[in-house]
Amino acid sequence: MVKEKLIAILGENNVSDLETDKIAYSRDCFPLKIMQYKEGNMEPLPDYILWPESAQQISEILKIANENKIPVIPYGGGGGVNGGVIPITGGILLDVQKMDKIIEINEESLFITAQAGILGQHLEDVLNQRGYTYGHLPSSLQCSTLGGFAANRSAGALSSKYGKIEDMVIDLEVVLPNGDIIHTNPIKTPRSATGPDLTQFFIGSEGCLGVITEITLKIHPVPDIRKFIGFLFDDLHSGLEVVKKIFRTSIRPSIVRLYDDVEARMVYHISDIQKGQSYLTLAFDGYENTKVLMEKEYQICYDICKKGGGKDMGEEGGKIWFQNRLNMYYPNRQYHDAHVLADTIDVATTFDNIENLYYKMKEAIKRRKINVMAHWSHFYPNGGSMYMIFVMIEKNKEHRAERLYEEAWRDGLDACVANGGTLSHHHGVGIFKGDWMPKQLGLAFELLKKLKKTIDPNNIMNPGKLGFPK
Ligand SMILES: Cc1cc2nc3c(=O)[nH]c(=O)nc-3n(C[C@H](O)[C@H](O)[C@H](O)COP(=O)(O)OP(=O)(O)OC[C@H]3O[C@@H](n4cnc5c(N)ncnc54)[C@H](O)[C@@H]3O)c2cc1C
Repeated sequence: MVKEKLIAILGENNVSDLETDKIAYSRDCFPLKIMQYKEGNMEPLPDYILWPESAQQISEILKIANENKIPVIPYGGGGGVNGGVIPITGGILLDVQKMDKIIEINEESLFITAQAGILGQHLEDVLNQRGYTYGHLPSSLQCSTLGGFAANRSAGALSSKYGKIEDMVIDLEVVLPNGDIIHTNPIKTPRSATGPDLTQFFIGSEGCLGVITEITLKIHPVPDIRKFIGFLFDDLHSGLEVVKKIFRTSIRPSIVRLYDDVEARMVYHISDIQKGQSYLTLAFDGYENTKVLMEKEYQICYDICKKGGGKDMGEEGGKIWFQNRLNMYYPNRQYHDAHVLADTIDVATTFDNIENLYYKMKEAIKRRKINVMAHWSHFYPNGGSMYMIFVMIEKNKEHRAERLYEEAWRDGLDACVANGGTLSHHHGVGIFKGDWMPKQLGLAFELLKKLKKTIDPNNIMNPGKLGFPK
């Protein structure tokens, strides 16, 4: 009965309950799920996979889902790393990738409007052909969608200059669980004082409050020049102090990446790097007609680094990293051996707490004899994010690797929350980090739950994610 109704909306080719499709859509890039998948554990599976082509169709689907209390899980590129698309209680997997059209490029007011299912790379390619960029270059550019970026508060490599996705979005079209189609900033004005910001309310909602179907974003002329420089510091403290000083000027390099010794050795192949040292990569974006400004900014930052004890390592390291930064992920190399399990914990804190958080989290995870490394790659005047990577080499005998992986996450997140870090800077919450949401947000989480209940009384939208009930 439900299937017939769905076919009436979408046509037979856009509705599937084939076992193969169910399996293909049962996961994202959550490493634990990939490991379970490889061991033959595909559960839980969705009941239907749908490929809508318009907000109107999604509205009709949500009305049916609401009537029948069927869970609906929005699916972008499946590039999320938190299990955000795993259909915990079955239901409808709503793949929005057929909604990939550019609606408007407004060169007068510098914005683009596109459907939410467009792949990040395709959007950037279209803009580049016209001489523009949206300035969002996450490592998942080739496997994630614009809607997915917005739904997870994603951050790209150039975030220090262009911001995170939440700094770029001007307007969202969202289909609410009752089928209403709204725009959060219908006239796409740069700023407004018409009450709370509904765009920000839906950004980061991880499919739990509605389906994002269209997005308007700021765009910028593509920079003519991107200039790199690397510095080696005797310790982590000196590297962080230098970054702090740069962010106290009005200069915003496009790339600011500080690495601990372990990750710097791996990424930049600096074999003689000493224990405790840190490595900083900076990049500056500029235009031919204002080149002098960029050169001046470069020089000021160069002097800050030298004064702060940095050893000039030249431009090659950063340049090569930038050119090859996506290659390490594709084809999916990380998980080709079920006994090697790696994951990343993306947290953030204030400058006065960055070192403390690093040492506390590292200590908590290393206690289990797991390898840990970190870099800091998204900075603000008052702090920045830390990307902690842990790597385990473990035979999965009696699910030992699985248990160890979960323990590493638990220890890491406990240490994060106990030491003033946020659970996530840009990957979002998904399935596993939900347990920490009440600890992180306190009473504000109670308010968030009430808002969710008001918008989605039947809890059809992506149940069990973001700390909300199943
Ligand atoms: C190799 C690799 C590198 C990565 N690098 C980065 C990085 O540099 N920076 C970064 O921020 N992240 C990174 N990520 C994480 C991931 O790409 C982001 O979280 C991304 O935002 C997910 O988008 P997606 O389209 O793949 O979403 P999906 O995985 O399909 O979905 C993720 C969540 O968003 C919801 N969702 C998706 N589309 C919609 C929609 N239209 N409306 C409502 N909800 C929706 C889903 O329900 C789910 O909860 C990386 C991931 C991989 C695999």
